[in-house]
Amino acid sequence: MSQPDLYAVLGVSRDADADTIKKAYRKLARQLHPDVNPDPDASARFQEIGRAYEVLSDPQKRAAYDRGGDPFGGMGAGFGQGAGFSFTDIMDAFFGGQAAGQSRGPRPRTRRGQDALIRLEIELAEAAFGVTRELKVDTAVVCSTCHGEGTSPGTHAQTCETCRGAGEVAHVQRSFLGEIRTLRPCAACRGFGTIIPDPCRECSGDGRVRSRRTLTVKIPAGVDTGTRVQLADEGEVGPGGGPPGDLYVEIHVARHPVFTRQGNDLHCTVTVPMTAAALGTTLELPTLEADVVPPDGGSTDLETTFELDVRPGTQSGTEQVLRGRGVPGLRGGRGDLVVTIAVETPTRLGPREEELLRELAAIRGEEQPSAKLKAGSPRKGAFGRLRDAFNAH
Ligand SMILES: [Zn+2]
Ligand SMILES: [Zn+2]
Repeated sequence: MSQPDLYAVLGVSRDADADTIKKAYRKLARQLHPDVNPDPDASARFQEIGRAYEVLSDPQKRAAYDRGGDPFGGMGAGFGQGAGFSFTDIMDAFFGGQAAGQSRGPRPRTRRGQDALIRLEIELAEAAFGVTRELKVDTAVVCSTCHGEGTSPGTHAQTCETCRGAGEVAHVQRSFLGEIRTLRPCAACRGFGTIIPDPCRECSGDGRVRSRRTLTVKIPAGVDTGTRVQLADEGEVGPGGGPPGDLYVEIHVARHPVFTRQGNDLHCTVTVPMTAAALGTTLELPTLEADVVPPDGGSTDLETTFELDVRPGTQSGTEQVLRGRGVPGLRGGRGDLVVTIAVETPTRLGPREEELLRELAAIRGEEQPSAKLKAGSPRKGAFGRLRDAFNAH
C-alpha cells in the first residue's frame, strides 16, 4: 500500500517543529471541516489531514514514520477481533504488510478531543446586527489535579512490562498455511506501552474531567438559522489531556412578530385605511433597528423609524421596496425591506359615513358597478406585473 507523504499532506517541511505542524493542521482543518465545507472531496481530505496530524504530532509515531515504518499499523485494530484470522492478517503476515518484529510503536495516551456543537436561539435583530452572548457550555477540560497526565500526584506512568513499552505483542498461531506471526496490541497496557499504577482520583486516569463554564461569544451581524459560529479550541479536551476540539455554536433565529426574513431581505405588511390609500399619506413605521436597545440605554445613531410614502390611489397588495433597509450580509452589503400595503375597507359604518360614501359612489357613477373580470391573482409576482405592462398598451 503506497502512503501519501504526510508532510506534504499538511504542507510542511520534514524538519518542521511541533508548533508549525499544529498550526498547519489547524488552518487546513478549519477550511476542510465537513461542517463548514460541503465539498465531498473536503471530507476525504479532512480525514487525510487528521491521519497525518495524528502521526506527525506524536513524537514516537513521527520518528517511526521517518524511519519508514507504518505508524498506523493495526492501531487498535486487534481489539475485539476474536481469535480467528482475517484474510488481511494472513496476507499481511506473508507479504510483509505487518511483518512480526517490526515495531510500530505504542498508541499515544494523548489524543485530540472532539468538536462540540451547541444550539443558540437569538432574536431576529440580534442575528441582523450581531450580539454578544454568554453561553454555558459543558465540555471535557484538562484535569487540574494531574494536568492531563492521568496519574496520582507524585506518581508517573510506567513502562509496561508485558510489551516492554512497545504497546504490542507478537502472536504466533498455526494455520493451514503454516506458522503465522502477527502483532497485536498489548492486552496489559491496552496498546499504550505504559501503565498507570496509581490513577488520578479526580479523572480516573483519563486526564480530563467534565466542567461547566461560561463563554462569551460574539455572534457576527448577518447570521441566519443554521449558521455555525466556530470557536477554536473550545470543544472537548482529548483523552490524556489532549488538544481540544473546536466548539460550534449553531444559530437558530426566533420568529419576529412583524418582520419575516427571506435571505437578506425583510418583509412586512402595513395596513392603511381605504381613505388614506385613496388620498395618499405618509406613515412613520419602526425599523428592525428599533429592537436594538443600546446597552447603556443612551442615544444611538441607528435609524429606528422609516417613512413610508403611500401615494394617492395606492392599491391593496402594492409592494414598496426600501433599498438597504434589510439584513446586513455576512460578507457585507445589505438586503432590502419590502413593505406590502394592505388597504382596509371600513366595516360598521355610521349613518353619516354611509351617507358620504353613497354620495361619493353617486358622483363616481359606481352605484351599480359592472363586474370586471381579470385574469390572475391580486398578489402579482414580477411576471404578473410584466404582463400587465404589456396589456396596458
Ligand atoms: Zn486527573
Ligand atoms: Zn503493554
